[in-house]
Amino acid sequence: MNRYRLILVFAFASTVGLAVSAFGQGGTVVIDPGHGGYDRGGVPGQRISEKDKTLDVGLRLRRILQASGYRVIMTRDSDVFIPLPTRVAIANAHPGANFVSIHFNCASRVGANGIETYYYRSDSASLASSIHRNVVSGAPSENRGIRRRGFYVLRRTAIPSVLVECGFLTNPTEGSLAQTGDYRQKLAEQIARGIRRQPAPYVRPLTASLRSVSLGNDFVRVPAESFSRSRKRSSKSARSYRSSKSKKSESSTPRKKKHKKSSEE
Ligand code: ZN
Repeated sequence: MNRYRLILVFAFASTVGLAVSAFGQGGTVVIDPGHGGYDRGGVPGQRISEKDKTLDVGLRLRRILQASGYRVIMTRDSDVFIPLPTRVAIANAHPGANFVSIHFNCASRVGANGIETYYYRSDSASLASSIHRNVVSGAPSENRGIRRRGFYVLRRTAIPSVLVECGFLTNPTEGSLAQTGDYRQKLAEQIARGIRRQPAPYVRPLTASLRSVSLGNDFVRVPAESFSRSRKRSSKSARSYRSSKSKKSESSTPRKKKHKKSSEE
């Protein structure tokens, strides 16, 4: 190989290397399986426990990402309760990582169905969009859209953070799908695909405020579900986790804000 060809090969290799690193290969992902321990997730008396499904999808996602060369940190890898501030602290201990919180939805109306994805920080929008697009395309469920919400783990994390609701466990179709390992594997694969394919995040000028570039509270407007009010009242921890900033943003969109479980706020 002459010197010219060697230089060409070198240039090609470094271009590929750059392209791969731009798509996050070999990066770090903090996986946050929702709930755990005494916190089952979902509505009281819900037949399918959310905490088990989120953990299973999270562990599957870890295996997939590690096989693709990612470094993976889990906020929990067993059935334990991890307080939200601890989950955030784990995320923030890994600057440069992406944070993906895995949840399943619930509603008092059994017909409620679909997949929805949340983000808060503007640098998380591309990750949210990529994960959402891939999960929806791999699932038979309805697309409920991507929403911007100030849930605790999205608001307090200092790295791009996304919370994906992988379908309603209270819906007969989505609930029975979530109980099969094949479907949970598919969900994990699609989330991983979304992480791998995310475009480089758009970096806003430091002088622009979050409000000035906001597309509104939702990218996609979807009908709100009616959730049990009594559960919200009983959720003391949800209130204690909410900052005044979050209260303000939530009160500005009271009709669209659907009830969330305490450990997601
Ligand atoms: Zn949840």
